[in-house]
Parts: sequence; C-alpha cells; structure tokens
Amino acid sequence: MNRRSFLLLTATSVAATPTELVGAFANAPSQSLVSPTSTGAWYVAMRRCGQINYNERDPLTMDAEAWGDYWASLKVDAVLLNGGGIVAFYPTQVPYHHRSEFLGNRDLFGEMVAAMKRRQIHAVARMDCNLAYEEALKAHPEWFERNQDGSPRPHGESPWLFATCMFSTYFTEQMPAIYREINQHYPVDGFFTNGWPSTGSLRVCHCENCRRVFEKLGGVPPAETDSANPIYRKYYQAYMDRVQEIWRLWDNIAREKSSQCVYVGNLGGGLDTVKDLKQLSQVAAWFNADHQGRSGETPIWSCAQQGRVAYSVMQGRATTNVAGAYSNAQPNWRHVSKAPAELTLWLAQTAASGMVPWFHWLGGSPEDTRWREVGRSFFDWLAANDAHFRNRHTIADVAVLYPQRTVAFYSRPESQRPRHRGGPIDYLQGLYYALLEGRFFFDFVHEGNLDAATLRKYRALLIPNAAYLGDAQCGAIREYVKDGGSLLATFETSRYDEWGDLRPDFQLADVFGARVAGEVIGPHGNSYARMERQHPVLEGFQGTSLLPDAENRVPVRADAVPLVLSVVPAYPAFPPEMVYPRTPRTTEPAAVFREIGKSRVAYFAGDVDRTCWRSGNSDLSQLLRNAINWVRGSDPLVSVQGPGLIEAFAWETEPGYALHLLNYTNPNATHGSIRGTYPIGPQQVRFRIVEGHAVKSVRALRSGSTLKFQQQGPTVSFDVPGIADYEVIALA
Ligand SMILES: [Zn+2]
Repeated sequence: MNRRSFLLLTATSVAATPTELVGAFANAPSQSLVSPTSTGAWYVAMRRCGQINYNERDPLTMDAEAWGDYWASLKVDAVLLNGGGIVAFYPTQVPYHHRSEFLGNRDLFGEMVAAMKRRQIHAVARMDCNLAYEEALKAHPEWFERNQDGSPRPHGESPWLFATCMFSTYFTEQMPAIYREINQHYPVDGFFTNGWPSTGSLRVCHCENCRRVFEKLGGVPPAETDSANPIYRKYYQAYMDRVQEIWRLWDNIAREKSSQCVYVGNLGGGLDTVKDLKQLSQVAAWFNADHQGRSGETPIWSCAQQGRVAYSVMQGRATTNVAGAYSNAQPNWRHVSKAPAELTLWLAQTAASGMVPWFHWLGGSPEDTRWREVGRSFFDWLAANDAHFRNRHTIADVAVLYPQRTVAFYSRPESQRPRHRGGPIDYLQGLYYALLEGRFFFDFVHEGNLDAATLRKYRALLIPNAAYLGDAQCGAIREYVKDGGSLLATFETSRYDEWGDLRPDFQLADVFGARVAGEVIGPHGNSYARMERQHPVLEGFQGTSLLPDAENRVPVRADAVPLVLSVVPAYPAFPPEMVYPRTPRTTEPAAVFREIGKSRVAYFAGDVDRTCWRSGNSDLSQLLRNAINWVRGSDPLVSVQGPGLIEAFAWETEPGYALHLLNYTNPNATHGSIRGTYPIGPQQVRFRIVEGHAVKSVRALRSGSTLKFQQQGPTVSFDVPGIADYEVIALA
C-alpha cells in the first residue's frame, strides 16, 4: 500500500466529491509560486535520499546511532525522520499534539536529527497532517472532516484517529504551530507531509467550513465527483487553489528560519492523477512522487511512467520517488522485504527516468534486514557514477500527450460510466506498451504545457484518447501540425471540452480529416479492420486481409482521404455456426492516414490503444508501432536494436550523454513482483549527439566495462554486449 491507497482507505465512508474553497483562498494567484531561492538549494543538488518511518512504540527500542550509520553507508544526502502530526516523537508543547505514549524521557526525533547531522546528512521532518486523536476532536470539533450526518470520520484500521479537514484551521494554525516548534528546536532542513495532498481523488467533506465553501459556490456538496456536475467543476478549482495556498503557507513557514529550509508535499501515483499536476508543480520547489511499488496487474514500468509524468511538469527541477523496501503489494506486508530484483528495478527506473531515489523502510527495530543491502549496493553504485545522473535534458523525438483532464474526469464516477469506457489510463497504457516494444525515445508532455515552444523539439505528438481537451490545447495541436509536426490520435480525442461537455464534432476534425458520424459503438469483440490498400502502416501483415479492430469506435466519415482500413462490423462469435460477417465490407474508415505538407496524421477511430492493453493482442501493437514509426519518420535520434522488452531513456548529461536501458524481459513484467533477472543479449545502438562534439569514451556503468565505438559525424555507434537488469551507457 502506498500513501495514496492509505488515504483512500481512510476515506471509505467518503464519496469523493467536490467543494470549492472560497474566501481568502479562492482568488489566490496560481502561477510563479515557487520560491525564487530554490535554485542552488541543497535539495536541488540532492542525489540520494532515505526514510526510516518509525512507529509510536519505537522510542522503547530504537537505536539512533545505528540508523545514522546505516544511512551514512548509503551515502544519502537527506533522511526523512518522523517529527509529528499524528504522533509527536519529541516532547512537544503544542496542545493536542499527541506525544508518543512510549516516548518517556526520550526525544527520539531530536536524537535522530542529531545522528544525521553528525554525519553531514540533511534532516527532513516527516509529518502527518491527515489524522488526529479524539482528544483534539473534543477540543476542536471544527478541525475535522464530517459525513453528511455530521459524524466524524474515523480511520478504517485505526479508528481512534479521525480525519482532519484541509479547509479548517488545523491546516492553517495547528500544523503551522507544530512546524514552528520543530523549526525552533531542531536543525531541520525541511518538512514533508505524508499522504497530503496526494494525486488521488478529491474528498468531499460536510463540516461547517466546507458547507460555507459550498454555499459560496452556489450549491451543496455533490454525492459524487462527477465533472458533469457544475458544482464539482467549481469545487475542483477551489480545491486546487486551497492545496496551493496551504503548500505556499507551509513552505513560507519552513523558510522562516532559513531560505534553505523547504516544504515538500506528497504527490505521485503513476499515470493516474486526479489532481492537476501542472498546478501543483507551480508551488512545488521539490516534487516528491510517492510511488513506492506496484500490485496486481500494474506493469513493472509504472515507476518509469511516474518519472515521465513528473518530468513533464517539473522539467528537471528537484524530483524524488519513494521506493518501499517492504513488500507493498496487495495484500500488503509492512515488515518484510520486497523481492530484491523487484526493488532494484524500481530504484533503477527512478534513476533512469531522472528522479532521485528515496529509499524507505518502515519500523525502527526491524526483524527483517534483507532490504538493507539491496539499497546499499544500488546507492553505492549510484554514488560512484554520480556525474552521469546529472541530467541536462532528455533526448527524444516523440512526444506523448499526458491528458490530465481525461485522466482526472473521463469515466468517473463508476456508477455513471458509459459501458464503452474503461479506466482512463488504459489508453495511455496500451500506447506505452507499444512504445516500449518499438523502442521509441519519447517524453510525456503535460496537457498544461501544450504550446509551440514545448512541442518544437518533437517530430510527432501522440495522443492516447484525450477525449476531454480544451479549445486552447486543440489550437496548439492544430498549429503544431500546420508547422510541420506529425500527429497520432485515437478514439474520442477532442470529442468533449475540458469538462466533458460534448461537442458537435471533434474539435480537431479538420486535423484528423475525419468527422463524427454517430454515437460510439461498442464494446464489441469480433469486429475487424479490412486492409483496403497498401500503406506503410500496414507493413508486416502479409498473409491476412483482416486485422482485429478495437472494442469501441466512433463511427466517422473521411470522404477526402483514401480508404486504407475499413470497418468490418462485429458479428456473433458463438456458436461457431453463426460466426460469419453479416456485412463483410463497408466504406467506414477504421483509421485515417493523411499527409499535409511535411506533416503526417494518423487517426484511429477505435480505442486501439486501450483494446491492445486489455487484450494483449500483438497485431494491434504492431499496428500502433507501425503508425508511430510512420508519423515520426525514419532516422531516429537514438535507436537500440536487439532482443528483449526494454525501456530506454536518453539524456544529455553534465559530462556528455547517458543511455539507460531497463530490462523488462520477465514473466512478471505485467503481474506481481519480479522474482529473478533474465539477462538479454547484445544490443546495437546508434546515438545522435550534438553536431561538432567528439566522444572520447563509451562505458557501461553497471557492468563496469569500456565499449568499443565508432563516431561518424554526430552519430555514435556501439554494441552493448548484454543487459542483466539495468545498464547505463555513459558517452563522454
Ligand atoms: Zn471540511
């Protein structure tokens, strides 16, 4: 369980909904909130980070010096240490700040801070603002979230704790009092809040504060977080405003002592972010992604995706990701280690995608210590090769739109979900898998950053069903294509505005060369796409005239574009006697491929990306890869040829360039936990560097070997003999 699922657990009785904050916070400016002092700050230069998350009982047994030695052995720049919030681990004087009942005469927090400082490690106070004891509830009923009947919200597993309300003075008075007390008495370098604000669903509260908020918005708390509800729309922005207001308040309090002291909130959650990351990034001097591990059907690459999402808004500013060393799967085991191969690959993805790893254990007196060496060996290696992880920017020729509004609002809530809609990240996940199989070098571009300056560096923009897309974003895409950029888009992209109001046609109909001709059809299996003529997108499909088609499609007309793939409508799949096409041939396009000047545009009317992800169909992946290849064009900036399923990142670094290769060739890539490593064989690399640069050495940093290479003009070619779990090739 990561912190986000923890938050969700605590909200079991809560219909996540909207409210908006009005009053002092409603009109708060939402730009340029990052402290100007953040450049040159210690957390900007931070390379490795640790966290020991101790519990109420730990003051009885915890050895601060031993922990100091362990973290020093990992060569970390900072350690997160539990200060207070729910439980104070020091002798607090703030009323209703519950001291650990096992604290006795100890000042565990103070000892831990001192142990880190003796070892020249920065100390960050890890706080929790989400829950408090009944004593506080009795004294300050206004601090707490309420259900519709006025009852407080006890925690699901620890019902003696109650959820606090973000709109109350608990956040503007009580937490600040605690931060100031800690800042006054301890040489801390920052504050971090567990579980807040998170990127998960919004909570709707019925406390007095929140009722006033809703009154000012002109309504009552809605039962569900549905963007079709006008009150939810207002609430969403008011909620985001409140988060930014609190974040700035706490950052300012942290900096009262020193401009180097920072507040960092808790973000992350992989692809699925309900809160607007672009807005949050505007207040965050430091973005911590709390994406500690995976469970169920979450693919191994979820951590790398987190890195790409974070980079799309932070653009290289301080970003960390928490790796849980304990077994945080489903079910969850807090006090035993995660499989070493899984944990190492999670740390590797963190580093490869440009984030700083934050290694996390829970419990001050562990009985399982197997995780320690996993972190130590990885951090040792990172420290020894530190310069090559100092990135300047990514090297990528393809942009993938991160469709924030669609991810946040499409197909929620479940009770009102049209049948043709799956989870909103399925589209991106299907495209992503094809991008990995095709070994493309790509960046995510957050919807809030869709402009000519951002898109200029990419040859093609890929849009995985950005159904909810604003006019301004559509305008930027249109301009990009007009200026020679290429485009791939799927399904309902631009069919709705940014809140989900249906438009009469795709806003991008002119760009797609396709117009809506009816309501979405599906979900249907056993429907097909017929290949009507030769096209580069259809390469490799010899031996068939039919391809599988998507489960859902928008019927479209594309009269001015030659028909390449036509729809064969679904027909019965059972019983076998009935399995024949009732309409074997139509003129309805399953996809539209067109060239306008230098631009190539591929539009798929079906949800091929989502269907590919859910079915695992290899033809659909091939079709997507072909289409990406076609829109990007030949001669990529970087190419890696060889066996295996890998994810690749290329960076321009301080010493030169780095190529990161993550080996996902594993039976547990898309389920459960990596149990062992399956090395893959040689990879042929061509890497385009800046014109005029001469590479002097190419080294494989994990295997510690020097590679032979050739340079012809800006192209450097070399073979990587093999990859175990992760390899980094440094060109200097
Ligand atoms: Zn409230």
